Amino acid sequence: MSVKTWQPIKYCFCHHVGENVALEAEVVYPPEVLPDQQPRVLAHRCSHGAICNLDGRASCLWAGTNPAIDPFI
Ligand code: SF4
Repeated sequence: MSVKTWQPIKYCFCHHVGENVALEAEVVYPPEVLPDQQPRVLAHRCSHGAICNLDGRASCLWAGTNPAIDPFI
């Protein structure tokens, strides 16, 4: 059976929230019967993205409110 999980891949201090946050990747690992297949990345998100999206201020790409700013670059 394949396994799908969110894993942190990068950390940074975000000035918008004043905390350390993580860039996370959603990774699917293949089932045991397909050992030659590589894990696949389906999506990325910020660990605080959902909270930032609701705070009423334009923040960054990962919150979906300001595509010109990416604090993880
Ligand atoms: S979504 Fe963007 S602004 Fe909000 S904590 Fe993450 S990196 Fe910072």
